[in-house]
Amino acid sequence: MDDPLLIAPCNALVNHTKPQPFELSFYTSSCQSCKKLYLYPSFCLMHSNRKIVHIDMDAFFASVEQLDDPTLRGKPLIVGGSPDSRGVVAACSYEARKFGIHSAMSAAKAARLCPHAIFTRPRMSRYREVSAQIMEIFHEYTDLIEPLSVDEAFLDLTVNTFCEPSASILANKIRRDIFSRTGLTASAGVSCNKFLAKVATDINKPNGITVIPPHLVLDFLGRLPIGKFYGVGSATEKKMERIGVKNGSDLRRFTREELVFHFGKSGKFFFDICRGEDPRPVESSSVRKSIGSETTLSEDILEMEIIHQILEQQADSVAHSLARRNFGGYTLTLKVRYHDFTTITRSATMKSPLFSSEDIMLCLPRLLAATEAGQRKVRLLGITVSTLFTKNTTPIQLRLPFTMEYTDNW
Ligand SMILES: [Mg+2]
Repeated sequence: MDDPLLIAPCNALVNHTKPQPFELSFYTSSCQSCKKLYLYPSFCLMHSNRKIVHIDMDAFFASVEQLDDPTLRGKPLIVGGSPDSRGVVAACSYEARKFGIHSAMSAAKAARLCPHAIFTRPRMSRYREVSAQIMEIFHEYTDLIEPLSVDEAFLDLTVNTFCEPSASILANKIRRDIFSRTGLTASAGVSCNKFLAKVATDINKPNGITVIPPHLVLDFLGRLPIGKFYGVGSATEKKMERIGVKNGSDLRRFTREELVFHFGKSGKFFFDICRGEDPRPVESSSVRKSIGSETTLSEDILEMEIIHQILEQQADSVAHSLARRNFGGYTLTLKVRYHDFTTITRSATMKSPLFSSEDIMLCLPRLLAATEAGQRKVRLLGITVSTLFTKNTTPIQLRLPFTMEYTDNW
């Protein structure tokens, strides 16, 4: 790596300060780690005024492997299944991408494309550890964070702890923090909504930033090849080409009704996004809807004693995850897959919430009794707790600068 923080030029840094009238109301966001409830002025959610940053780590799994083992640096590295099995590529280094290898490709094909590539198995616990470090950095800027996966998240930085109005300055500061504390590079997309921020990130990847200020949105989308639109896969891309759509400006010639006719429900989405409209808020609360644990057994089992032991371990692991996130849940689901692959689930919603493994184990027998475990061989067991809520999110803290004026400084 020559210059770890090479920043692609932002082709537009504008500063036309315009006071925006807004009605002052607040919404709340609870921080999972510090258990405090924060209040945000409502203008954070008004989409035309927002400063949204999308951060995506570069070739995350492969980069972590190259970081931990210097002998792998600069080499085509594939993280995933073995090439002699039916495994797939989970991630690959940029050196491997030069050979046309990409994630989700079969490991066997990857080995054919690049016979000297190095294959390694994923180490999820290590990736989660680094991911937690990155999330910690995000939380120093805002609590309005929506993780999309272990290495990707949206941040609403309209209001932030540094009182910094420029989202591009913040995005670069975040990238610098990530690099200095983890040794890994990230790319960023900066714009006024989630769709644009996400599309922007890919433009100067790896280790780059792209800023799309509001006044350039229509021009940018007009020239954007249709395949680069988020939500347009290769099948949709072909269909778009058939009706003469090669980029955003072609797409804008169609009415909403015409697009619904061609693409069903997605037509409405396409109509909005080619105009840069995406009002979806960054949702920190949608992080988790359920917490579960699942085990595929090395051999099919009939003995209830072993089944109980496995369920107990799973209950422990689920209770641990609940406690770590300060969650409780009301619904318990048991999943059983029999030896012939038929899968059933049994659920119950409790009057009082489940927190501990004892709570879970107390409710399990009745679900287990509604299955044929013990009579038919079982190959997979899983338990999930859902209908989650966060425990005691008081006290209320006002920590954000309410006097901050909105400025159109990107
Ligand atoms: Mg990534």
